[in-house]
Amino acid sequence: MNTPAAASFFTSRLAAKGQPLLIAGPCSAETEEQVMTTARGLQALGNIDLFRAGIWKPRTRPGSFEGMGREALPWLQRVKAETGLPTTIEVATPRHVEEALAHGIDVLWIGARTTVNPFAVQELADALAGTGVPVMVKNPVNPDVALWAGALERLERAGITDLAAIHRGFSTFAPSRYRNAPTWMLPIELKTRFPHLPLICDPSHIGGRRDLLLPIAQKALDLDYDGLMIETHPDPDHALSDAEQQVTPQRLGEILTELKYRYRSS
Ligand code: PEP
Ligand code: MN
Repeated sequence: MNTPAAASFFTSRLAAKGQPLLIAGPCSAETEEQVMTTARGLQALGNIDLFRAGIWKPRTRPGSFEGMGREALPWLQRVKAETGLPTTIEVATPRHVEEALAHGIDVLWIGARTTVNPFAVQELADALAGTGVPVMVKNPVNPDVALWAGALERLERAGITDLAAIHRGFSTFAPSRYRNAPTWMLPIELKTRFPHLPLICDPSHIGGRRDLLLPIAQKALDLDYDGLMIETHPDPDHALSDAEQQVTPQRLGEILTELKYRYRSS
């Protein structure tokens, strides 16, 4: 990607804001009330750019909460109608893309467990071609920059240019204080291949713990990342997925105030 897309959701918002993009919302949409309470709390912060929620959840083992599915899509329509926040969800199959777009979801993202699979990414690229929807691509779970780049290239070849990458850390066997090791060199390597690609950090899935959100987000800002995606829930301890890493909208507001922002000239 050598020239920025003409009408990019990400680059035009960044230019208008002059600050990193902020994406927040629950790991999973659980109930309409939980989604709306989170969205109202985030709207009150006044600086959130995009509301995220997982609808179809890729869980490691069967029997865990696997998301509310399409039933939750009207809840996100309500978020947008009542708070004005644009919405984003994870898609893993062409059917997810079709249903998300039929419900006016503004931005889609490809999750770490899908980025690892070139067949799945190609099917998504084909389904996304011509839709004009902005797409964020999380790194694959394993520390393989070529696979991450390959997914972005498949989308570009399908004519999808409104793209961003999300760094969510890499799975390691070695014991680590992180849920997924940040290995900060890898996203930097990706940027050498895609210099204009907006890069967003996901401290929630890197840290896996609330107390690591601030230092990880600060490191990302120090490295000049273009945005942060942070999971928020009105009652994090009782969340149906990723309970240990979610924070309330109010706590997110405190974290965002504690962060030190670099001067952005453009
Ligand atoms: C998520 O964002 O909730 C998620 C499942 O993330 P990842 O694909 O990074 O594991
Ligand atoms: Mn999650």
